[in-house]
Amino acid sequence: MIQSFYIAKDAEDAIRRKRELDGRGVFLAGGTEINRLGSSVDSDEVISIRKIGCDRIDDQSETIRIGCCVTFQQLVESPLLPAWLRDASKYCDSRTKRNMATIGGNIALGRDDSYLMPALLAAKVRLLTAGLTEEGVYTEDELPIREYHAFKDHFAGTLILAILIDKHERFVMTRRFSRTAQSHASVTVGFGADRDEAGNPANVRIFAAVKGSGIQRYADIENAIEGDAYNSPEDVQFAVSSMTKAVDDLSGSATYKRYLAGVAVSDIYRMFLSGTGGAK
Ligand SMILES: Cc1cc2nc3c(=O)[nH]c(=O)nc-3n(C[C@H](O)[C@H](O)[C@H](O)COP(=O)(O)OP(=O)(O)OC[C@H]3O[C@@H](n4cnc5c(N)ncnc54)[C@H](O)[C@@H]3O)c2cc1C
Repeated sequence: MIQSFYIAKDAEDAIRRKRELDGRGVFLAGGTEINRLGSSVDSDEVISIRKIGCDRIDDQSETIRIGCCVTFQQLVESPLLPAWLRDASKYCDSRTKRNMATIGGNIALGRDDSYLMPALLAAKVRLLTAGLTEEGVYTEDELPIREYHAFKDHFAGTLILAILIDKHERFVMTRRFSRTAQSHASVTVGFGADRDEAGNPANVRIFAAVKGSGIQRYADIENAIEGDAYNSPEDVQFAVSSMTKAVDDLSGSATYKRYLAGVAVSDIYRMFLSGTGGAK
């Protein structure tokens, strides 16, 4: 239960407050997870970041900059954003929740049924983060979202300030599978790839959030696609299904989740090969 509520005036104020609280404080953005009954976040000491000025989407010539407190509804409505991100934002089906939930909060949570993470990871977006050095000096850093995801514990005290999307043409698609639009997803996948000068796949990224088993990357399959090692999308389906870690739970059996991940990735891969979908 919330015992103290601090409204940060800027990013530096927010992370200094967090340092003062010895890591016990949590940043409050939309509050949809923090205030959820049975929340995964222990939130005695809350630091509101709603007033730090990170609630805009800006076109910055080479990149699009999305402030951490931009809500899902802003993402859905923005004409500046690529279709894959607007599609993924609609996975949050409740309009009320979309008006509150933020992109920064979604990344920080990185849930195993994450709405946005598979697509953001597949798109190779970058994060602008704010932190303090051991000596207490304020710093801002830019890093690939893959690094933030892979070394989550290392970034525990870090504030995500913004999400940076490179404007160069990249194929990105996402799919989500759940019993109903409001249910937890069994599987959510993201597939992203560029084309090299000869039109072949390059910089392939494949991720799946699998309920009960976390967000998974398929690095060997990415390399095999780039190396032209598969004869058909069906081979990719088999490879993804075989490599997916899954457990039986209310959202589906392990076998079903492996099947969904494989079919979804191979379907998207087929669209990439045929040059359909995934456009910005
Ligand atoms: C009924 C219900 C169902 C839900 N289903 C899903 C689901 O299927 N998939 C899913 O992904 N989410 C789900 N959520 C969780 C949530 O709505 C989203 O993940 C949302 O995007 C979280 O954002 P927020 O701004 O509300 O986060 P908050 O609740 O404000 O914060 C969540 C966590 O993120 C941290 N945080 C917030 N902003 C930042 C930042 N800028 N930098 C660093 N840390 C930060 C906070 O410290 C806290 O630990 C559900 C929530 C509810 C209530």
